Amino acid sequence: MSIQEEIAALKATLPDTVTLVAVSKMHPAEAVMEAYRAGQRIFGESYALELRGKQAQLPDDIRWHMIGHLQTNKVKYIASFVELIHSVDSERLLEVIEREAAKNDRTIDVLLEVKIAREESKSGWDAAHLTDYLAGGAWKALSHVRIRGLMGVATDTSDAEQVREEFTGLKHLFDRFREVFFDCGFDTLSMGMTHDYSIAIASGSTMVRIGSRIFGARDYSKK
Ligand SMILES: *Cc1c(COP(=O)(O)O)cnc(C)c1O
Repeated sequence: MSIQEEIAALKATLPDTVTLVAVSKMHPAEAVMEAYRAGQRIFGESYALELRGKQAQLPDDIRWHMIGHLQTNKVKYIASFVELIHSVDSERLLEVIEREAAKNDRTIDVLLEVKIAREESKSGWDAAHLTDYLAGGAWKALSHVRIRGLMGVATDTSDAEQVREEFTGLKHLFDRFREVFFDCGFDTLSMGMTHDYSIAIASGSTMVRIGSRIFGARDYSKK
């Protein structure tokens, strides 16, 4: 199937409550344009410089999301335009986003990434530590950052039951945080990628990040 056909087929199966982020990392601008012509407007990237490069050459009405691990010294490259940062995994990063957003006279929406996978390598807050941080209340002083919800990446395994448990755990945390800490605007639960988005949606996801299903395999030898 072509990129346009994949987008159409995907959109036909996603519930109205679920937003599609087309993950275009390591695919050329022409591939993004093909998805754009199919009506897709939200794109996700994992590397700050690649994101900035694509933003500069592609249509202005694209809504760019940062989904990959973000180093504090790279926030400045995307702060002027990024719509949502999914991968906020530390207090320090929140503070830098606050500062760079203020410099650009804007408010940046973010998701807090929670570590739900059992694998060692996955980044994100530990749930207990994040609960303590939110209870501490320092985040309420951030006037240029809006915490919109949570994001998680499940273990890369064929064990669907394990993936379901990880997503369900994140959904429970999301519901609890919304009830305890946020009056409104805490409405986004980003979970699910090409191989596990059906399980994520069944577990309460409101935003899926799908790359290879739309654009094909990524060629890491070119990075
Ligand atoms: C690359 C990436 C995706 C998309 O993965 P696919 O398997 O290609 O759908 C989703 N989320 C994150 C955090 C990623 O880095």
